[in-house]
Amino acid sequence: MNPNYWNDQNSPVHPISAPDFIPAKLLRELQLHRLQRLVEYTYERVSLFRARCDERGVKPHHVRTLKDIALLPCFSKADLRDTYPFGLFAAPMKDIVRFHASSGTTGKPIVVGYTPNDLLLWSEAVQRCLAACGLGAGDILQNAYGYGLFTGGLGLHQGATDLGLAVVPVSGGNTDRQIMLMRDFGVTAISCTPSYFLHLIEAAQQQGVDMKKLPLKVGVFGAEPWTDEMRSRIEAEAAIEAFDIYGLTEICGPGVGIECRHHCGLHILEDHFYPEIVDPDTLEPRPDGEEGELIFTTLTKQAMPMIRYRTRDLSVIDTEPCACGRQIRRIRRIKARTDDMLIIRGVNVFPSQIEAGLLALSAALPHYAIIVSRVDNLDQLEVQVEIPREKFSDRVGEIERLRAQIAESIHRIINVAVKVTLVEPNTLPRSEGKAKRVTDLRPK
Ligand code: ADP
Ligand code: ZN
Repeated sequence: MNPNYWNDQNSPVHPISAPDFIPAKLLRELQLHRLQRLVEYTYERVSLFRARCDERGVKPHHVRTLKDIALLPCFSKADLRDTYPFGLFAAPMKDIVRFHASSGTTGKPIVVGYTPNDLLLWSEAVQRCLAACGLGAGDILQNAYGYGLFTGGLGLHQGATDLGLAVVPVSGGNTDRQIMLMRDFGVTAISCTPSYFLHLIEAAQQQGVDMKKLPLKVGVFGAEPWTDEMRSRIEAEAAIEAFDIYGLTEICGPGVGIECRHHCGLHILEDHFYPEIVDPDTLEPRPDGEEGELIFTTLTKQAMPMIRYRTRDLSVIDTEPCACGRQIRRIRRIKARTDDMLIIRGVNVFPSQIEAGLLALSAALPHYAIIVSRVDNLDQLEVQVEIPREKFSDRVGEIERLRAQIAESIHRIINVAVKVTLVEPNTLPRSEGKAKRVTDLRPK
């Protein structure tokens, strides 16, 4: 990659990014104005919101400052399920032009709707994100997020098109074709889950395609947690710059936040999506700089405005100025969501900690599975890790040493004993979308 590629002088900020740079004071005024309008709008139109406000004795005019947002009730995924499919819509069906739904691994999916204006706002958000990755007209984006009800495919597609990129709407799966298109079209950027990109790297190797030699220079990866260790692997193996993009269906889809090229957290597009951090148990607001559950208020959405929506994602709001000059605040990369947390013999363990521990060893390949079971009333944690085939030809002592090193590296981070099993490359399942890494066999 040309080392000057990211040089600020050489890559002027795209005009679409202007709101990222509004002075903080103006931004707060804009947010308050939008919040007040949103609360009035939603109070009039969404009966569950009105009922919850009334229970608390809160009326829209009580929101006088941004801090007053804490007076308002929170909403969660359960509220979307309970009002399935359209109970939280604020706009009449004649104004709705699109639906999406979240994966909903259990029970009914949760459904969201968009007005034409919501789609414009979503496109703006995605455009600002892609511009922050240095992408623009002339780039060819292979969009390998799933198309359909999942927000990733169509969401990125529209924003990228509107920004002037040439989009290859390949969707997820069909890995061999992905490699062919990437090579034949001279694709310069790819969007998909980080776990699927790992799979693509592997498949390219098997086909004798050296990804490092392709024109591909940027990866826009999100929809699942991934670590800095994983980023280093991806960047080294594919010679690209990898950006973390964040979003969730309930708020709009991808485009809620993105890393800039300084890679020090994700800028939240907070003129549209107002972030707060709260204590996940008491819902008390936590100050900037403290970890807690991330919640969002959609300041500008019409079809299904979300007020204080609980993401279950754990993060920290970072107010340190960023070298890129963006005034919008950053959140620390999402390492975990509260519902991913494993409790193993009373200790809280997040899969991302295990990932960081095992990838600290260069011999471990970035493909692993976590299996939790219960033997004689005691929780057992097993991590299966792929290692390169040639390692298996090493002497038994060497393999045993590697196994012990990986176990020790994970143990140091999570403080729970772990059984590590080394397996041959390509034996663990690969994902085309969000990776499923944990199998919990304990009786419920
Ligand atoms: P579901 O809740 O069914 O997975 P979504 O497809 O809307 O529904 O996924 C949103 C969730 O995906 C987020 O709340 C977050 O947990 C996860 N996610 C999205 N982007 C990222 C990211 N960049 N890093 C970590 N987690 C992410
Ligand atoms: Zn920045």
